Amino acid sequence: MFSKILIANRGEITVRIIRTCRRLGIRTVAVYSTPDFRSLHVLQADEAVELGGARPTDSYLNKEKIIQAALDTGCQAIHPGYGFLSENAEFAAMVVAAGLTFIGPPAAVIATLGDKIAAKKLAVGAGVPTVPGHLQAIASEAEAAAIAKEVGYPVLLKPAAGGGGKGMRIVDAPEQLAAALKACQAETRKAFGDDSIFIERYIRTPRHIEIQIMADAHGHVVHLGERECSIQRRYQKIIEESPSTVLDAALRERMGSLACELARQAGYVNAGTVEFILAPDRQFYFLEMNTRLQVEHPVTEKVTGLDLVELQLRIADGEVLPITQKTVRFNGWAIEARICAEDTAKGFVPSVGLITRYAEPRGSQVRVDSGVAAGSTVHLFYDSMLAKVITWGQNREEARRNMVEALNGYHVEGIHTNVDFANHIINHPAFIEGRLSTNFIADHLLNPEAVLAPPRDRLRLMAIAATLIYHLRDDLARHSLLPLKARVGGMESPRESSAYISKSNGDIFKVEIAIHQGFRVKIDEKIFDVTTPPMEYYRRRLKLTINGRVHFFRLYYSGNFIQVAFCGIERVFEIYNPREWALAEFMPKPSPKAADNLLKCPMPGLVVEIKAKPGDRVYKGQELITLESMKMETAVASPVDAEVASVAVGPGDTVDTGTTLMVFKV
Ligand code: ADP
Ligand code: ADP
Ligand code: MG
Repeated sequence: MFSKILIANRGEITVRIIRTCRRLGIRTVAVYSTPDFRSLHVLQADEAVELGGARPTDSYLNKEKIIQAALDTGCQAIHPGYGFLSENAEFAAMVVAAGLTFIGPPAAVIATLGDKIAAKKLAVGAGVPTVPGHLQAIASEAEAAAIAKEVGYPVLLKPAAGGGGKGMRIVDAPEQLAAALKACQAETRKAFGDDSIFIERYIRTPRHIEIQIMADAHGHVVHLGERECSIQRRYQKIIEESPSTVLDAALRERMGSLACELARQAGYVNAGTVEFILAPDRQFYFLEMNTRLQVEHPVTEKVTGLDLVELQLRIADGEVLPITQKTVRFNGWAIEARICAEDTAKGFVPSVGLITRYAEPRGSQVRVDSGVAAGSTVHLFYDSMLAKVITWGQNREEARRNMVEALNGYHVEGIHTNVDFANHIINHPAFIEGRLSTNFIADHLLNPEAVLAPPRDRLRLMAIAATLIYHLRDDLARHSLLPLKARVGGMESPRESSAYISKSNGDIFKVEIAIHQGFRVKIDEKIFDVTTPPMEYYRRRLKLTINGRVHFFRLYYSGNFIQVAFCGIERVFEIYNPREWALAEFMPKPSPKAADNLLKCPMPGLVVEIKAKPGDRVYKGQELITLESMKMETAVASPVDAEVASVAVGPGDTVDTGTTLMVFKV
């Protein structure tokens, strides 16, 4: 086995690969860009080599520098992780030419499967069903129109070199085709330096099901079951699970053996994932094959008990696969949630900065793969995914409940994350029932007409948490006001019972708290027995056992305003004693702030393009500036109908949230 390898990546996946290497006694070398100098992956590796530059092209995408670093530190192999150079055939070939081992498939296989048209042809040859469409790059608009007509609308335009959902366009009708083709080509050229596009039928409300395979260099191929990754936003996965609620044993066996067959035909070696979409009529179609370790591989590890990184290392070292299809066992259910630095309330814009507080969930059935800690800086140059939470259970509902409480207890301050958005998904009735499709988020969470009001029983638990914490702190404050003599010897006679009114938006709760082996809380005429570990009242993460079940709440206090995050719901509770309540009803309500004449920057980023100049008339909603952050472009739109008075920034400027971008004459 290798004694030392270099990991050509950053963040959680590097940390995760280091973990397996350490267990196997393999020394690790990390590489890093200048701004990553004190990041977790650098601290955890045995050695680290600085590559320079903040931009990926100067560091994590710089093939020559990375290979040189591996040679200089005496490594025998390079693990590419996912993203960056992991599916770059040229890099894989260069690694081998330098006398090192590439921990992944042969370069030629990466090249074939990296081209979606070539991969689809291969799938056809292996007898794998593919989405009806055309297996050539589109040469002209006229050809596109003819093919789309034959395939049948709606169609999907896809970049052959695609990845990350970039460039894809749904076309519903012939008259939209020309514009969509242009947009798709422009985006594809920019993202992949190549503009070949192909066309396939757009499958409505499908599910994304993928098969993990493992192949050694001696002709053995096994599959490790499926993962369902239907919960996506903009073609990016957010929640994944294994197994899937839709597959039965026969379908699993069919998809699994076809995936293995495809791998055999491709001459595949190492870990790979064959992605399919499954239509509502249970027809499935090959999408693409990813020639690397996948972000969501931990759910497969949880249900099979295998370490996929260990298998990758053994295969790369020339060992025979230590498992056969017969010895692979599936046990229980696993779910993963991707934790990203983004502000879900502001249209999912990237969030960057210093993580000032950080507490991960723990538990016997909880695994957190994270690339950050308290004190980490989240940069705008890299992907927004910071960590993954993986939970396991005997069955789906158990795994799901473990996920709910894990996310309830995941506390990050300093930047915004999607922790509560992910929890909102996991708590949605359609998710609980396993009614999933790739439209799930658009249909259920982002469609204002479908938004469900938070159930009263969940709000009730939140009201208990907010009121109890207020009560405990109030007791503490009273205690501190007692004369010193009365204070010594512990808490002086806590009040026997107290009544509060707890209000959040329009929901009002009368809450009575009494001491009774912990607390007895009366709310909505129902009685709850509540216990909490001592000294919880100063924590941001509160653990309460309510009628025998453990729940975690995250709380932010300010006077009698207590913000609570729980099961994906965020609410501010105002706590009053009944006398204050009577007064509070007459307090003047704050009026909304008047709109001003400035275009403020909604997120940190780099200015790419300015689309208006002084003197231009612009309308509300018109895109005025393009920003780039975390690999994504975001348009900043005008908040008003106005004339532009001045432009305060220029292309290439780094801007922050709140920076003035333009001034209007209103
Ligand atoms: P990428 O390389 O960006 O991952 P994929 O081909 O794997 O591209 O597609 C990503 C996602 O796009 C899929 O998970 C699915 O949600 C959607 N998608 C792709 N092809 C189709 C199709 N023909 N019909 C409907 N949805 C599709
Ligand atoms: P972590 O290091 O993040 O805690 P582990 O691999 O130790 O992750 O798994 C945590 C717990 O999850 C284990 O102690 C075990 O109880 C449970 N678990 C995970 N996968 C399985 C499995 N396949 N079968 C049974 N229990 C499992
Ligand atoms: Mg894909």
